[in-house]
Amino acid sequence: MARIVMKFGGTSMAGMERIRNVAARVKYVVDQGHEVAVVVSAMAGETDRLVGFCKEASALYDPAEYDVVVASGEQVTSGLLAMTLKAMGVDARSWLGWQLPIRTVEAHAKARIESIDTGALVAAMQAGQVAVIPGFQGMMADQRVSTLGRGGSDTSAVAVAAAVKADRCDIYTDVDGVYTTDPRIVARARKLDLVTYEEMLELASVGAKVLQTRSVGLAMKEGVVVQVLSSFDDPTQDNLPGTLIVSDEELDAKLKETKMERQLITGIAHDKNEAKIIVTRVPDKPGAVASIFTPLADAAINVDMIIQNDSKEKEETDVTFTVPRADLARSVDILEGLKDVIGFRRIITDTQVAKVSVVGVGMRSHPGVAATMFKTLAERGINIEAISTSEIKVSVLIDEDETELAVRVLHTAYGLDAPAA
Ligand code: ASP
Ligand code: MG
Repeated sequence: MARIVMKFGGTSMAGMERIRNVAARVKYVVDQGHEVAVVVSAMAGETDRLVGFCKEASALYDPAEYDVVVASGEQVTSGLLAMTLKAMGVDARSWLGWQLPIRTVEAHAKARIESIDTGALVAAMQAGQVAVIPGFQGMMADQRVSTLGRGGSDTSAVAVAAAVKADRCDIYTDVDGVYTTDPRIVARARKLDLVTYEEMLELASVGAKVLQTRSVGLAMKEGVVVQVLSSFDDPTQDNLPGTLIVSDEELDAKLKETKMERQLITGIAHDKNEAKIIVTRVPDKPGAVASIFTPLADAAINVDMIIQNDSKEKEETDVTFTVPRADLARSVDILEGLKDVIGFRRIITDTQVAKVSVVGVGMRSHPGVAATMFKTLAERGINIEAISTSEIKVSVLIDEDETELAVRVLHTAYGLDAPAA
């Protein structure tokens, strides 16, 4: 017997037929004798619809009331799932965020979970009752409803799993796992059986939208075993295909067990949500770069790739960097306002860019990963506009129109293509 948290996303909860399928899966797991808590998303599209109402109500809506409105989508699905389970003869009840409670920091629309009271929850689970918990929502110290930011129900599920010390957190979604790259771009992308937390963190943050990035960070920190599974497969199947997210050590152990070799590259991700900013002719002196990035940081704008090319002739340099597209206008505004303080010539922006990243813990012990990437792109005439690296990732910024081509040739170059069918 294990203690399992099951999480179902929006497409899995979209309509009564889907919810009945989810209930059948939950019943199957309960019937095997496991203790179960379920975390659910709102029906697909529902949160967008509710956000639309808020914007219509007032351009400057009150964030506290926004949370009251958008949290309702998950209240509906948790109630419906509990009802459906009961109709199938499975004991179940819903526990809303404020009832447990799931305590969050004081930050409407972007709250972080601080703690979850588990007394009643664990007692119910031990008594054989399925606890159905709406994801995305919590309660602040002033007892008002809060929400965790879009995609937050993954984080709710991992937080519940950590709090009840679950053996596993199974995240059911509309794909059957994490792939080497987006299968819509590369038909021969392969599903990964195993991926490490760190790789998943890099893949999630560079555009592989299977899990909310924050949920992966939390799982890594809390050591929660996470499994991504499809909710569209037969609900009464034992070994559903999926991807297991493990630690580096667990990966090594599993590879030994199966006598498999560690891949150099695990996956290739792309992200079209960034914009490039070039600040030209910044004085080449201490403090200049800080005068650009400090005000952006103060405005909570996430700067990603940075390059600075200093000109040997002049005492000036161009600074190039990327920000989320949604923050581009605000970034330019802030910098233009500080033109005299920073002392630059002008600002050039470009939204026709995409970031392509190769990710893999295998590159730690293998030189040449970046060189292969640059050479492969050069052979196709793809120009690199910026580069950034971490221990397990190399990212390049390229023309947006060349994204698909870049992903495809890199997938082949690193030997990730599945054998032809
Ligand atoms: N329903 C919320 C959203 O669409 C939370 C979630 O589904 O993860 O962002
Ligand atoms: Mg989601």
